[in-house]
Amino acid sequence: MRLLRWGQPGAEKPGLIDGEGIIRDLSPWLSDFGADELDPASLDELAKRDPTVLAAVAPGTRLGACVPGSGKIVCVGLNYADHAREAGMDLPAEPVLFMKGCRPSGPEDTIALPPEHSRVDWEIELAVVIGREALCVSEADAPSHLAGYATFIDMSERSFQLERGGQWVKGKSFPGFAPIGPWLVTADEIDDPAALALWLEVNGERVQSSSTREMVFGIAALVSYISRFMPLYPGDVIATGTPPGVGMGFSPPRWLKAGDEVKAGIDGLGEQRHRCVEWAAS
Ligand code: ZN
Repeated sequence: MRLLRWGQPGAEKPGLIDGEGIIRDLSPWLSDFGADELDPASLDELAKRDPTVLAAVAPGTRLGACVPGSGKIVCVGLNYADHAREAGMDLPAEPVLFMKGCRPSGPEDTIALPPEHSRVDWEIELAVVIGREALCVSEADAPSHLAGYATFIDMSERSFQLERGGQWVKGKSFPGFAPIGPWLVTADEIDDPAALALWLEVNGERVQSSSTREMVFGIAALVSYISRFMPLYPGDVIATGTPPGVGMGFSPPRWLKAGDEVKAGIDGLGEQRHRCVEWAAS
């Protein structure tokens, strides 16, 4: 299934895409994708029902983040060998983990550039969405804790991340720095998450193009590893790292400015598209 959330920011309702490609309003069946709804057993039950009895959502309706914003976002750094080289960093012996402090945003929402920004950068990533609580799970057991997968862009302000002291979190957390979507594709629909092409374009120029095959630590290994340090709850998102081609890796480096368009996608998971704007107090 392709699950999504539609409607205005803060008032999104759940939906799914039926076999004809029509978005159906799931709200008569469930209020949102909470812990009960994301459990793999619940998703299996949902898949058995006929969505064509549900109302169609008008084409062009805004899509929100495909997961509610209540969970945490755990990111994996330097998880593609080529990207680690590009960033001038050694390949990690264990996964590098950091967190983002913002909520996921929608697949076509604008990306606000924070005040004092000078080095805003892009990173296409495969996101894993947790469906069942995981703590100290084995690699073999990890897949049974997943709801599914989505595209994700790990946005960064590199000067905040690398030059302002302390942890990377400062450069990773401005609102809009975690756009996800357009859909949560349930795990049963992806035969091999380690064989998905992923790409990102800036103003129509393809700057990132790789495969999840290049990941240093795979999905099951990451879920198991992270769960040894912290509980993973339903709705939590794990961003699994980015391949080469980020702005920081160009010579001279490239940074996003207002008016730029970032477009990205992953095989079978759809595309997201964002316009960059200067942040303004609302
Ligand atoms: Zn990243």
